[in-house]
Amino acid sequence: MHELSVVMGIIKIAEDYAIAAGAHSVDEVELDIGTLSGIDMDSMDFAWKQAKKGTMLNDSVKKINSITAKAKCLDCNAEFPIKNYYDACPVCGEHLINIICGKELKVRSLLVS
Ligand SMILES: [Zn+2]
Repeated sequence: MHELSVVMGIIKIAEDYAIAAGAHSVDEVELDIGTLSGIDMDSMDFAWKQAKKGTMLNDSVKKINSITAKAKCLDCNAEFPIKNYYDACPVCGEHLINIICGKELKVRSLLVS
């Protein structure tokens, strides 16, 4: 399951940060997850609950900012939200588009104590 390795990575980042900050627990983790990141939220929640047990994140709260994917048309420069990588420009129908955002999967902020 892809989500489990993602979650393990996030936990590692959070623990490294907490240790460096001299904290002993992570209270809150805020994540930016793009709609094109390929993350399944249900799998993510399940993996999260399993993986955080016994770590510094045991009692932490997870907040997720869902980032709507946006693209820019290389032909007419229109910017528009997309659901798939291969969506066409709604203005001119061109398929040559540049993904501006929506692929992110990162830790935005951490609260430790
Ligand atoms: Zn266009």
